[in-house]
Amino acid sequence: MIGLMEGLEITRRSFLKLGLIAGAGYTLPKYLRAHLPDPFRDEVGPPPLQGPETWSPSVCTLCAAGCGMLARVIAGKAVGIKGLPTHPLNRGKLCPKGLAGLQHLYHPDLLRGPARRVGKRREDRWESVGWDEAYEMIAERLIRLRDNGTPDRFGVLTGATASLTGKLFERLG
Ligand code: SF4
Repeated sequence: MIGLMEGLEITRRSFLKLGLIAGAGYTLPKYLRAHLPDPFRDEVGPPPLQGPETWSPSVCTLCAAGCGMLARVIAGKAVGIKGLPTHPLNRGKLCPKGLAGLQHLYHPDLLRGPARRVGKRREDRWESVGWDEAYEMIAERLIRLRDNGTPDRFGVLTGATASLTGKLFERLG
């Protein structure tokens, strides 16, 4: 540091500039956090600071590994995630994707329930349907495929093959 400073002439003007830069470096992030739009913050609002707090054990479902996690819940809303230390697979660690799980959970584009396409393919027009209606539609189509002798026309695209969901899909094969 001393070597770097050798030969530098610190004038009153450069000292003031340095102070301004240092001050901006401290206050700018605070200003941006307060004023820039933040889809995550706008969607969920600031974390509720009042209310009962719990840490709920859970499993990350963002890939087939299924790491154990703890969700920090305040007033019934998940506000934080960390690895579950006692989980034999990840032993308290989470990858960046898992740590960003709340952004996935609260993303405004996340489907909150089943939807039925109402337009033509690629028109991207959908309407929400209830779970009962969705199950009935799926069951009716699966039965039709079986009765027509064309079960090979049914396919599933999923990465969750190591989970119970994967086992259920295997039983359909
Ligand atoms: S934390 Fe990462 S590795 Fe573990 S289940 Fe989630 S996405 Fe997969």
